Amino acid sequence: MTYFADKNVLVVGGSRGIGAAIVRRFASDGAAVTFSYVGSEQAAGKLASNSGSRMVKADSSNRNEVIDLVKNAGPLDILVVNAGVVVYGAPAELDPDDIDRLFRINVHAPYHAAVEASRRMPDGGRIILIGSSGAERVPMAGGAAYSASKAALRGMARGLARDFGSRGITVNVVQPGPTDTDMNPADGPFKDMMHDAMAIKRHARVDEIASMVSYLAGPDSGMITGAAQTIDGGASA
Ligand code: NDP
Repeated sequence: MTYFADKNVLVVGGSRGIGAAIVRRFASDGAAVTFSYVGSEQAAGKLASNSGSRMVKADSSNRNEVIDLVKNAGPLDILVVNAGVVVYGAPAELDPDDIDRLFRINVHAPYHAAVEASRRMPDGGRIILIGSSGAERVPMAGGAAYSASKAALRGMARGLARDFGSRGITVNVVQPGPTDTDMNPADGPFKDMMHDAMAIKRHARVDEIASMVSYLAGPDSGMITGAAQTIDGGASA
């Protein structure tokens, strides 16, 4: 209950799925948690009242909204950027506007959020970006833009780890594989194909991803930076 007492945490994109599990984990460990949402007002409201966290509407596809979100959350001890979208399909047929929006949410927003957070983050702060095992291996056709966006987070974390290292601020990526959420339900149409590729043949639970985030945000992980932690049941092994 007190592991993260006195820590100020922002989860960008926390209303559902993995982000909501991260919000619950930090809140139950005593942190003051703010999270953003854009479409799921009802889910956000329920999560905020059940966990005692604060919800703020901010669209990650809009740079100014992301920067204001971070600024207004006050000096952050821990920033987690979780909001992400998937656009799958034949590249020649996808709407280029959808692809640009994907890059704004999955790449531009984490960069601007991390840089803005660094301005007032105390020494020893933590920045955690939620990537994907799709950065390591692209298991099927149609995922080039999504995988490119998640691979970008690896370079971003490496670079920002160097930029902020002198202040003891760590920057890491957590890369889930198939995880049971609205984005990728455990009983969805691709489940057999996904499980075939895994050593442990099941979707991860959202709390299994939140545990890794909690570890990276905690006092025992001060020498882990610029790294990626993959949680994919061995799919990219
Ligand atoms: P969901 O689609 O279940 O939830 C996405 C969350 O991100 C929601 O809270 C949503 O808020 C928020 N979000 C999406 N777009 C925006 C936006 N423009 N502005 C603010 N918030 C936004 O996804 P998951 O929980 O499955 O995924 C979370 C992260 O994990 C993503 O980055 C995803 O790429 C990554 N991931 C997931 C995997 C999986 O198998 N589930 C595998 C690998 C990586 P709202 O509903 O309010 O719009």
